[in-house]
Amino acid sequence: MQFLNGTFFSRDCRKVYVDDCASHNSIPEKSKLKWKKPNPEWKIGGKGEGRTAEPGGDGKFIEEAPREGQATVFDLYLDNSVRPVFRKDRHVLRPEYVPSKLPHRDNEIDQLASILVTALKGGRPSNILIFGKTGTGKTACIKYLQKEIDKKSSADYQKVHCTYINCQIVDTEYGILASIGNMFVKDWNERIPFTGWPTEKVYNHLREKMDEVGGIALIVLDEIDKLVFKSGDDVLYHLTTLNEDLKNAKMSIIGISNDSKFTELLDPRVQTRLGEERMVFPPYNAQELLDILKQRSGLAFEENSLDEPVISLCAAFAAQEHGDARRALDLLRVSGELAERERSSKVTERHVWKAKDKIELDVQMELVKTLPTQSKLLLFGIILKSEESLTIQTTGEVYDIYRELCYRTNTQPVSQRRITDLISELDMLGLINARVRSFGRGGRTREIQLSVNVPDTKKALYDDEVVRELMDYSSSQQRLI
Ligand code: ADP
Ligand code: MG
Repeated sequence: MQFLNGTFFSRDCRKVYVDDCASHNSIPEKSKLKWKKPNPEWKIGGKGEGRTAEPGGDGKFIEEAPREGQATVFDLYLDNSVRPVFRKDRHVLRPEYVPSKLPHRDNEIDQLASILVTALKGGRPSNILIFGKTGTGKTACIKYLQKEIDKKSSADYQKVHCTYINCQIVDTEYGILASIGNMFVKDWNERIPFTGWPTEKVYNHLREKMDEVGGIALIVLDEIDKLVFKSGDDVLYHLTTLNEDLKNAKMSIIGISNDSKFTELLDPRVQTRLGEERMVFPPYNAQELLDILKQRSGLAFEENSLDEPVISLCAAFAAQEHGDARRALDLLRVSGELAERERSSKVTERHVWKAKDKIELDVQMELVKTLPTQSKLLLFGIILKSEESLTIQTTGEVYDIYRELCYRTNTQPVSQRRITDLISELDMLGLINARVRSFGRGGRTREIQLSVNVPDTKKALYDDEVVRELMDYSSSQQRLI
């Protein structure tokens, strides 16, 4: 129960009790209070937002109930007098949308179709490994082919079951086996639980259920490298040998990855089985990106809402990036959102430049958030020193402040040698600029300079609970060590 201005209300605030004898410092027994129906018009704001209570008192907690037609903070943006830049289906610019046509991927789609058609004829297609940088259309092509297979996989052709798993989300052996197994379970009671079964039992259940259903199973393991880095190749070994144990079903695996190096971690037998066919998706050039953007912008934007150079600028920026269609589409979407926020009826070149800065900053901050804690402490130290107007720092100065921050956060510091490596890593990631400077008699040091925006980087660093402890710390408090 809570007390407010002579009134007690239950924890969920549904019941209001009125105390006749006025002030209390403690909450009286419930039985001694009369309870009355709350007036739905009364609301408590602040911490207990939206709760019903008696009005009056200090007024701080009392809020007016919303009335229809009242002015709101959204009105400016809901104003119909400004012509919108987006159509209703702006989601077509999102990465998860699968377009009905994929320009400049005809060759790749044909090649995959020529391998996968075996499934429709009742045979087991070869396992395939697909490589290519981010945004080269690997996921989009596979999802497109999955739809095409579903259209054909009917009475006339062999039933093909396509299962798509993103290994960034499901990255354990158990998770993968359970996800595949449950695709073939019809009765809810027979589903494999999220955890708890021995792996052997999951594997056997999966095999039995696949055999019960029969047909051909195509298992897509997108971002397969994440699975191998996290959980090793045992699950791939089991899956690639599964066909030997299946009687009534057959299975093929399509592995997709941005990083071809992961195959070096595979047992040679798994490597051979998994890579029966290999394909590489090349990056798009600026002209190809332009075609992709034209197709999507027609669906997402109102007519005449894009200034002439907008699309070509987005394509050019993304081509510089490494031919990444996702980056091109993100640039276009964010440019549109910035124009919308400014209540402009046209997306202009200026919005694209702003979108580029915004996306680059988001990417950089994401990078900061994924650094190991030691590197975060190091970067935080460099920031603190730079705030002290030491724009250029030496390795020694940086190591001192780093050790101090470790001391303040009860973190075990790493050696100065290791810190030199971490400095090189931060340099490679473009977060700092570290130049080696030689001085007399073979002495060498590094001159370290920040290359990030300080307030945003600090905010990203405070996401880490260790760095957060240093929120109120300033390097002037540094002990002499
Ligand atoms: P990857 O899996 O290679 O990282 P995606 O398939 O996720 O890349 O593609 C990223 C974005 O670009 C998605 O929105 C996708 O629809 C789009 N895209 C990629 N290639 C094409 C293409 N050829 N035509 C149309 N859109 C494409
Ligand atoms: Mg992908």
